[in-house]
Amino acid sequence: MATFKEFRNNVKPNWCPGCGDFSVQAAIQRAAANVGLEPEGLAVISGIGCSGRISGYVNAYGLHGIHGRALPIAQGVKLANRELTVIASGGDGDGFAIGMGHTVHAIRRNIDLTYIVMDNQIYGLTKGQTSPRSAEGFKTKSTPEGSIESTLSPLEIAMSAGATFIAQSFSSDLKQLTALIEAGLNHKGFSLINVFSPCVTFNKVNTYDWFKENIVNLDQFPDYDPTNRIAAMNKIMETNGMLTGLIYQNKERQAYESMISGFKPEGLANQELSLSQNQFDKL
Ligand code: SF4
Ligand code: MG
Repeated sequence: MATFKEFRNNVKPNWCPGCGDFSVQAAIQRAAANVGLEPEGLAVISGIGCSGRISGYVNAYGLHGIHGRALPIAQGVKLANRELTVIASGGDGDGFAIGMGHTVHAIRRNIDLTYIVMDNQIYGLTKGQTSPRSAEGFKTKSTPEGSIESTLSPLEIAMSAGATFIAQSFSSDLKQLTALIEAGLNHKGFSLINVFSPCVTFNKVNTYDWFKENIVNLDQFPDYDPTNRIAAMNKIMETNGMLTGLIYQNKERQAYESMISGFKPEGLANQELSLSQNQFDKL
């Protein structure tokens, strides 16, 4: 069984010192080892942005795709090879702006993959512009008088799109983040894990201290039931989307690929499928 160090490679991340993405990378590597994966059994597909570099920093199959298109690629990879565990990743700009159409439909399609968004509420790679996750009034180079658009709530959108797994965490809470990624990897369907991952260089508002003050950890609510869809939606709205933990999980709905006729059932080897297909063709 691979250790988390075996999911490291010798490429040195070029994120700014203190960037939250370092912890997300460490959490992915730990979670992959903890659920018993091998590097050759994992594919990490990313979009464009600082966080998109992560596919080059994990020892696994990887593809650094194009802006906003991590999910179409990741879904294709999973459908082409169901034996692979697939992680898609990127930033809030990548997934919730240019890629939002793909995000919504990937959620409702429910192909078995784990989507990890590093949400720093700004565009970091292009040196600090307002993203759909930036707060109203947020001043950047693109909104010098403050953003006048409303802030997008990915958790509410994911709920209404029929998500079967929604979690949120904070890059500083490596223990919680690792556990949630493990849960996402074990979930049979599409898992959205939104991670508050501060951009220390360009976002001087949503800092580590700001997140620590504003995050509402679901551990505070021992009676919270993540299988209750209405309770999940209420809690997201009550906390203005700042809650962390496992927010919602529906284990009843099957993954997309397990419902497609012609796809092999779980546990059936490729060879068995081709034999069966050959036999069928000879009939
Ligand atoms: Fe991280 Fe921001 Fe630096 Fe990009 S610019 S590497 S998001 S700290
Ligand atoms: Mg961003």
